[in-house]
Amino acid sequence: MRLAPVLLSLGLALGQLAAQAPSGVPSVRSTERSATKVAEGIYVIRHPDAPNGFPQGNTTVVIGSRSVLVVDSDYMPSSAREDIAQIKQWTDKPVRYLVNTHWHFDHTFGNGAYAAAFPGLDIIAHVETATQMVGWNAAWRKGFVERNAALKQRVEAGVDAAGKPAGDSARAAAKRQLETRERIWSEFEHYQITDPTLRFDRDFQIDLGNRTVWIKYLGRGNTTGDAVVYVPDAKLIATGDLLVHPVPYLAGGHPAELAAGLETIGRMDVSTIVPGHGEIQRDKAFLRSVAEFIRIVVAQVDKDFFTYGTSWGNVAKIKESVTAAIDLPGWRQRFTKGDPDNASFFDNFTYPGLIEAAYAVAWGR
Ligand SMILES: [Zn+2]
Repeated sequence: MRLAPVLLSLGLALGQLAAQAPSGVPSVRSTERSATKVAEGIYVIRHPDAPNGFPQGNTTVVIGSRSVLVVDSDYMPSSAREDIAQIKQWTDKPVRYLVNTHWHFDHTFGNGAYAAAFPGLDIIAHVETATQMVGWNAAWRKGFVERNAALKQRVEAGVDAAGKPAGDSARAAAKRQLETRERIWSEFEHYQITDPTLRFDRDFQIDLGNRTVWIKYLGRGNTTGDAVVYVPDAKLIATGDLLVHPVPYLAGGHPAELAAGLETIGRMDVSTIVPGHGEIQRDKAFLRSVAEFIRIVVAQVDKDFFTYGTSWGNVAKIKESVTAAIDLPGWRQRFTKGDPDNASFFDNFTYPGLIEAAYAVAWGR
């Protein structure tokens, strides 16, 4: 549901955030790269946000005695290449499998760097994700070029988006934005954005040599084709954006099914959870909080849906009624810890988008 504008605005919104997180509070912003060994032969790489503020997904590296499996390839090709160089320091085994947890660009655009570095690589995605990537990936290239050209015209003419003369600060901001976008484009201009090569629709297992990895589909969630990757011997699961820390990304998708998927993970033998973004979780507390929040909001939307009528126009009324019925300030504080960047993320990508997504499901039943 309306994922495209949400996704396109995500980088812009994050790029505009300026305040720093209070010390000790996890932030939706990421300024540096880190690599953490989370179990024997398993590493998690976190990435700084892209130059335009677009977030970059976490990457999990699972090493077996014969081959390596990587979960999510990040956004910027240069970041993916940096990860590949690091993987080659950790092991001389080839990356044989790359799993895309979902189609969003911040988890998949590094695919081309892996395909170039590891001949024979299989890029694995759920059938829905693979189908969507073929369309979205082609559309991104065209759209990015067109938006750069339009921005360049505006900068040269000194006008704003409405075509009116822009003030000094607006002109400077547009110029900076153009420089950033051109820097990003310079990485993609001669780069092969790469689609999945292998599609699955249910669960299957891969033997990496002395280590079995499960690729699982837990139902629709953040998108229609989310994959999770489970390593039983390490009790580790990589969730993609079914879970995003510290503030859940809920502005779209299929909320009730997402909550059910998180609850399934809650019942699994898991002690390490790698979210799509943010800090590695060593218990299930955050996962359970997110599932609980979704359940509360969805239940209230389902109730109010019949109180206020079933036409799409009533979603505004339902936003009001749901907000009055739940402890929104408490939930907002629980996820954001009062940090302004986190709060901005919550207001743009968590709530009330969750209501719209739940309403869309109720409306479509
Ligand atoms: Zn993401």
